[in-house]
Order: sequence, then C-alpha cells, then structure tokens
Amino acid sequence: MKHKVSIPKSLKFGGFDYSIDMSQSTVQQLMGRGHYGECAGMTKEIRLDSSQSPQQLSETFIHECLEAVSTVWCDRGVAHDHLSILATGLHQVLEQLEVRFVR
Ligand SMILES: [Zn+2]
Repeated sequence: MKHKVSIPKSLKFGGFDYSIDMSQSTVQQLMGRGHYGECAGMTKEIRLDSSQSPQQLSETFIHECLEAVSTVWCDRGVAHDHLSILATGLHQVLEQLEVRFVR
C-alpha cells in the first residue's frame, strides 16, 4: 500500500469537530455491541474498532465519515443501505489507488 493516511484524532464535518476514538475501552465496547464502528451525531464522536484488519478499518473509517456527512448535511437523509454501498464502493476505488486509512 503506497499511500497510508493516518486516521486523525479529530476531523471537521460541516464546521463541527468530531473526535475519533480508537482507544482500547472503545474497542471493547464496540466488540460487545458487534459493531466495527459508530458515529454519534449528538456527542460528535466517531468510534472505531482498531483491532479489525487494516482493510476493514479503512472501510469502516470511510463509512463513519459518510455517517457524519449524512448527519450534518442530510439530516440523516441518506438511507443506511445506500450509505454502506457508497462506503464500500469508495473503499474499493481507494484500495485500487493504493490509498488506505490507517491507525
Ligand atoms: Zn453505519
């Protein structure tokens, strides 16, 4: 993978700072709920299970970014199944370009 982009500790979506949490306690909570990641619009947080495979982590990061975009700009107007398809499609293109989001 040529272009490894470190997942930042925070990122702005529509002028709102979202924190990005990959701590061990968050990993345990996500595993308990069976989620790779979560995006909480109320608390402006993205939580990622950093123990998943590098490819899966990159896809999950893209997915949760789209969740934040959807929350801020679309009032959650993007159906979740459509959002998942867009995230997986974008992930495939980025992998082809050798761009991966990493811990
Ligand atoms: Zn989702």
